[in-house]
Parts: sequence; C-alpha cells; structure tokens
Amino acid sequence: MKQLMAANWKMYKTWNQARDTASELAQNIRGQLPENREVLIFPPFTALKGVAEALQNEPGMAAGAQNMYPAAEGAFTGEISPDMLLDVGASWVLTGHSERRHVLGEDNAFVGRKTAFALNNNLNVILCIGELIEERRADRVEEVLSEQLEAGLAEIPVGLTSDSLVIAYEPVWAIGTGEVAGPDEIATTHTFVRKKIEELLPSIASEISILYGGSVKPDNISAIMTLDNVDGVLVGGASLTAESFSKIVLA
Ligand code: PEP
Repeated sequence: MKQLMAANWKMYKTWNQARDTASELAQNIRGQLPENREVLIFPPFTALKGVAEALQNEPGMAAGAQNMYPAAEGAFTGEISPDMLLDVGASWVLTGHSERRHVLGEDNAFVGRKTAFALNNNLNVILCIGELIEERRADRVEEVLSEQLEAGLAEIPVGLTSDSLVIAYEPVWAIGTGEVAGPDEIATTHTFVRKKIEELLPSIASEISILYGGSVKPDNISAIMTLDNVDGVLVGGASLTAESFSKIVLA
C-alpha cells in the first residue's frame, strides 16, 4: 500500500517562505524516504509554482492545491480551474477539507462535483471527510462519513485507478486543536472507511490509501502509523516548519 505524508499549509506562507520551507524539507529527507512513501505539499495558490519548482527533481515529492472550482473557465470571480493548477505544477488537489465545509459552507454535493471534475481533468484528489464533535457524541460518525463518501464519490469517472484517489479521515474536533483521536477511534473509523469504500468502489478500494488528519505531531506520528488501515497522514500546524514535518515524514 502506498503511504502518503501530506502537508496542508492553509493560508500561511508567502511565495519565498513556501519555496524555502519546501527546499529545506527536500534537503532534510533526500535519500531517506522509504520506497512506498510519498510526500505532498499543499501551499497557498500564490506559492504553488515556487513549491512545485523546488520539488521537481525530488523523487517521491509533489505539490498540490488546497482547492479548485469545478469548471474549465468562466465567470467565477476568485476561483481557479484544474488546468490553471496543472499549469503551475500542481498534480493534486484537496476536496472536502473541513474548513471548506464548515467555514466556507461547501456541502456534500458540491464536494462530489469538485472531486469528479478534478479527477476528470488530470488532477489526483485527496477527499477529506470527518465528523463534528456533536455528531460523534450523538453516535452518528458512521452515518456522517457514509453520506460524505457517497456524495463525494458519486460522480467519479469510470475506470478510475487507485493511484488518483486518496481518502483523508479528519475528525473536525481534532483539527488544529491539539486533541488527537485515540488509537481505537482512529483504527475503528479507518476500518469503517475501508469497508464503506469497498462497497462504493469494489474494484480498487483495497488499494486506496486512507490518511488520518488531526493534530498529528512528531511525537504521535509513530503510534498513528502503526494503526490498522492508516496509510499516511494529512498534517496542518506541524507541517509548517521543515524541521517538524521532516520528523513526521521520516517516522
Ligand atoms: C488539517 O488542516 O488538515 C489538519 C489536520 O490540521 P492540524 O494538523 O493542524 O490539526
């Protein structure tokens, strides 16, 4: 199974800062990355070209975008298309990140449209899913994740290969809070996600990487990576410095 260690830099870093951190990270991990492990960096749009250039000759490293709009072009002020992202060297995009769902108001159907459009237009996708704390307390985790997966994957292209799609399980209450989901919560939920994608995408589900996200740090990464059905991580805060993220990447 391919392992992915992904850095979401959110709305942090200018072009220079992002390129410098990407170069430092590449230098820290060069020649040490296990063969089945890849590193993805999701900087702000304005820094994508600089990061993609810093990574272009680094085996196992690539750049991606944090968002995109599901149209080729048009009157969509402030939005960006898959072709524009490919043009500056992005090969991946995040869809369904909890901040897009809960701060910017994206619903399941829109996340599904974006996921399908990205995949149909040569971008690889990390589809993010996760429940709110009140949904976990109400014992609705499986229901919420099922809805997010069903809608998120509803329109994906026929013949999709497992290399193009990754699922990231990120409990919303663990993102940026310092509160990590417990090992049992992570393992149980990832096993549920695997079962659900087996139902939705039977021919490729066993090869799809499932990442955990939510307050991953250098001191908890080793324990998280040993859990069942955890094939990597999506990291926010602890990915912002090369020193911290290289410890996570090489754990
Ligand atoms: C994220 O933004 O996807 C994330 C998991 O953030 P953090 O690692 O800071 O919780």
